[in-house]
Amino acid sequence: MTRAETRKILAWFQSSVGLSDWEIEISVTKQPPEGLMDDAPVDDWIGFLGRGQSHVPLHRAKIWINPEAHKPSTDLFYDRTGEMQETLFHELLHVFFADTGLEETGPQCEHAINQLAAVLMKQYQN
Ligand SMILES: [Zn+2]
Repeated sequence: MTRAETRKILAWFQSSVGLSDWEIEISVTKQPPEGLMDDAPVDDWIGFLGRGQSHVPLHRAKIWINPEAHKPSTDLFYDRTGEMQETLFHELLHVFFADTGLEETGPQCEHAINQLAAVLMKQYQN
């Protein structure tokens, strides 16, 4: 996922769901940005696809996409190279839910967000 693609997805997402007044910073880096993974030791976050943090009153969010967890693999089951965009949509949806004030944690919410991410990604691609 290139920087240009990342910016394009962000712009599309923000205007589609109404988060235009949010300042969202996205990093696709080996090291998570400061503050995002402070509560987890390296061994724990190494497998994270991504993580986000929203500051609702300030309308600011940070999203980290872990390229290490989206590496190509000869084993098709583990090949997650195509999922980086989906991870970005997933993390953006967390920002959206944070903005609405709705509860967005727990395995069921994660599942729902994954499904929404897939739907939005299809809309974006069309
Ligand atoms: Zn999630």
